[in-house]
Amino acid sequence: MDFKSFLTAKKPRRSNRLEMKKIENTVKHRHLGYFDILPLELKFHLLTYLSVDDLSILTITSKAMRNLIDGFKTTRPSGRHLLPNPFHHEILTQSEKDEYYYRFKQLGLLMKRSTCLYATKDRLKFVNDFLMRIICTNSKKCENPLNCIALICFGKFLHTVVAGWDDSECQRAFDSICLHTGALRNVSTILNSKPGLHSKMECDARLFFRRVFLDHCEFVTTRSFWLSCIFKSWPMVHQAKLLYLLYGPASQNEILWFEMCDNTSENCEESVQNLGNMANAIHCLYHYNEKWTNDNAVSVVDELTSFPDQWLSENIANLMLLCGDGIASRMLISKAINGRIPELSELMSSFCTVCVKNNFNINYVVSSLWRILEVMNQPKDRIMLLNTMMDMYQRLIMDLHLYNDPEVDPQNEIYYAVSAITELTKTLLTITFKKLLPE
Ligand SMILES: [Zn+2]
Repeated sequence: MDFKSFLTAKKPRRSNRLEMKKIENTVKHRHLGYFDILPLELKFHLLTYLSVDDLSILTITSKAMRNLIDGFKTTRPSGRHLLPNPFHHEILTQSEKDEYYYRFKQLGLLMKRSTCLYATKDRLKFVNDFLMRIICTNSKKCENPLNCIALICFGKFLHTVVAGWDDSECQRAFDSICLHTGALRNVSTILNSKPGLHSKMECDARLFFRRVFLDHCEFVTTRSFWLSCIFKSWPMVHQAKLLYLLYGPASQNEILWFEMCDNTSENCEESVQNLGNMANAIHCLYHYNEKWTNDNAVSVVDELTSFPDQWLSENIANLMLLCGDGIASRMLISKAINGRIPELSELMSSFCTVCVKNNFNINYVVSSLWRILEVMNQPKDRIMLLNTMMDMYQRLIMDLHLYNDPEVDPQNEIYYAVSAITELTKTLLTITFKKLLPE
């Protein structure tokens, strides 16, 4: 920007009518009218009295005003109202946080309006400069990443700036921000290392992508778009790992990579807490991203549930139930077509347990079983599935009976297993004797 263009106003002489008339004549031809006569410093000083909202409205009044405010923004990036500084890492109340978020949204609007005539490349430069001024996880050390709201504020800002941009522009924004922060390089290191090896980097990457791109999406389509940006450069096996990195169970300072292989959830709330976000993300990509085919969904869930080790069958059943009927059916049918009968029967019995634990209707399991049996070509495979499923239960209950430690687990698992088989049997008996029973 050429600042000389702001410096053309002459100092008017006092009590000089002729001079004033001359000024009036010149003012007529100036874009900012009388305001233009003031020296630049004074103009900028007056602008400091305006709120971000007012500045934002002013930028759309004329090109000259937009240039003036752009100059003001560039020369005073840290003015008290242009860049609120929330990064003392103290615990803020929700209303204090909301206040910051609102201000950053307004700053986004100001940036969006004042740069509306710029090329995307130049606008992205402003966005990146802004990020570098507020981020405190890269060059500066962040004292408390979990409670730091810097990235959340930037996320609010970014989402306001890119609202209404087309997909290719948003993709450029994603690429540029990731390049600038080295985020993709870190992701590459994480994906090519053993889980947990770079636990700090893993947590930082999770917070970065969630706070900047994913957590502020108002629409599910927007979230699906950003997810696909994050996933698109990686093969299925890495996409699954990324999904866990972003949404899997985590403690304050590490991702709990083995949680799904070692423990099951106690109740519905716990399973939603552990698996709900992953299921949501899969659902979101499956239903709202054209590039994510059905095969993609099946492969990623398959990879996800066998990483870093095979998940416990109950957790897989839980994830499928949370993903919704469309994805669960597709997964089960794919296993049936590929003849993975032992896996399938274990999964079906886990479905029964999950239904009992979460108070879902066991009819869901029966109708899923119908669909699976229908796609199996060989009658002997069908009978094998049904038999293995029941054998699985027998073994499970016997194991629980013999090896269960009542002090560690006070009979809960046995109770759920027996209840599951009882509920399933009741439903099957009702179907068998349907003709003889009341409607
Ligand atoms: Zn911080």
